[in-house]
Amino acid sequence: MDHFLYRDGALYAEDVPVAEIAAAVGSPCYIYSTATLLRHFRLFDEALEGTEHLVCYAMKAASNQAILKTLADAGAGMDVVSQGEYLRAKAAGVPGDKIVFSGVGKTEEEIRTALSGGIRQFNVESEPEMVEINRVAQELGKTAPITIRVNPDVDAKTHAKIATGKSENKFGIPISRAKEVYALAASLPALDVVGIDCHIGSQLTELEPFALAYQKVAELTESLRAEGHNIRRLDLGGGLGIPYTRSNDAPPLPVEYGQLIKDTLGHLGCEIEIEPGRLIAGNAGIMLSKVIYVKSGEDRDFLIIDGAMNDLIRPAMYEAHHDIVPVVEATPGVEPRPYDIVGPVCESGDTFAKGRNMPPLDAGDLIAFRSAGAYGAVMASEYNSRPLIPEVLVNGDQFAVIRKRPSFDEMINRDTMPEWL
Ligand SMILES: *Cc1c(COP(=O)(O)O)cnc(C)c1O
Repeated sequence: MDHFLYRDGALYAEDVPVAEIAAAVGSPCYIYSTATLLRHFRLFDEALEGTEHLVCYAMKAASNQAILKTLADAGAGMDVVSQGEYLRAKAAGVPGDKIVFSGVGKTEEEIRTALSGGIRQFNVESEPEMVEINRVAQELGKTAPITIRVNPDVDAKTHAKIATGKSENKFGIPISRAKEVYALAASLPALDVVGIDCHIGSQLTELEPFALAYQKVAELTESLRAEGHNIRRLDLGGGLGIPYTRSNDAPPLPVEYGQLIKDTLGHLGCEIEIEPGRLIAGNAGIMLSKVIYVKSGEDRDFLIIDGAMNDLIRPAMYEAHHDIVPVVEATPGVEPRPYDIVGPVCESGDTFAKGRNMPPLDAGDLIAFRSAGAYGAVMASEYNSRPLIPEVLVNGDQFAVIRKRPSFDEMINRDTMPEWL
């Protein structure tokens, strides 16, 4: 559930009519709900109650400072995948000991920044990376806490571009080689091996792949302990899916996911970390857009809107579905009609939906893309020299711009001219 609902025929974000936001900041824009963000974070936190745990928000899903601070103030840790994300988390006030550093290609500079600023753990993805972290830690006279990301070779049954837990994926080390790699880690003097990490993919809509992976993690914990490794922390990654439509079967709930974690791993007495991103931010955000033209085609009508693939790339990149709703609620009894909903960018890929049933719409009408809070604004670009669209955070009856739309001059002046021109 989220906090984008109709009241008296108008779409609201919490207690603010979204049309009021559009009037203030223009369209297109992203709008997030504080109440939804917090609700989703707490669902995970409560699902692990009774177990020592930390919910580390995977901030690559939506990394605006205001979103990070909202979650951090509620107690969230952060999962970061780059130096930029690490520095964003620190800037939002997250202490280093609540930040885990994931990602397959951490550079020397990234490792140095995190070790100097404080880090809960690095999730190591390869032997060369492990050797490099040890080297940098030694140089700084520090000890680096690490887990090793194991690839359990399970099929996450999700879109190929966001599956990460099969042996053919670039992530982690094969679980079959874990013993050998843990032995190497134990031999490196500046590493403190604290646990095991595992993340099998994103937008998982069933619990079974998690169950298979976590059983393998449980077995590995026992066999590594038998070898003398002090495995005391399990990072289980993120990936729990969200409902992108109201008609589909809903994915499992955080409470069911939490129960699965307790059932498969609870007996080990480890501290549990999870890294949800999409489920916290996805349905906490919408992208608002306006119809520029209604164009009648030979066999279909097009809604040409002011939002485009550069603002929300998920449909073009992952064939993702977003529910699209009118900001003025459809009048009961008025027949919906099918539209192709497209942006103005010069690519056929700039198509959000084909044959989508909507109430009859006119130029100037506002529409909202639901479930756009995760992997929306963060994946936006300025393709076609369309400035990045603003982000707005709603909290009850208040709203604030949390990233403003750059002016055209700001966008152009980011380029610099070589002296010979
Ligand atoms: C992307 C990612 C996540 C978050 O995945 P969601 O599907 O957004 O929950 C967590 N951990 C790692 C290592 C990731 O790469």
